[in-house]
Amino acid sequence: MAECIFCKIARGEIPSKKVFENDQVIVFHDIKPVAPVHVLIVPKKHVSDLLSLEQDANGPAIAWTLFQAAAEAAGKLGVDKKGFRLINNCGEDGGQTVDHIHLHLIGGKPLGEGLI
Ligand code: AMP
Ligand code: ZN
Repeated sequence: MAECIFCKIARGEIPSKKVFENDQVIVFHDIKPVAPVHVLIVPKKHVSDLLSLEQDANGPAIAWTLFQAAAEAAGKLGVDKKGFRLINNCGEDGGQTVDHIHLHLIGGKPLGEGLI
């Protein structure tokens, strides 16, 4: 996906404040953080959203890679002891603004029990 902003970040064509990356995933700080810790966990393969991932032959592997990377990022960012929240926005009502699947990892302060 030539014009996808997260594909460009994954290819290094747009700078990002990277936490880490491997062959399959890149983790970088959100440009508009909503909490002291707010990073995005993004597969390097372009998959638009959760519904597309479910149709992808590699969907299970990619999904697990995202969760593994989230756990690794939590440790690197020091929120593994006190906890954090993972969010996936899907589609219009879900508030998805970048059509390349990603998890938000948010933490660094008590987030409360409410979801919205
Ligand atoms: P979503 O609304 O779930 O699709 O999340 C997209 C997120 O990407 C938002 O929280 C944006 O602040 C973030 N974002 C957009 N462009 C960039 C960028 N160039 N670098 C880092 N984060 C970005
Ligand atoms: Zn993409």
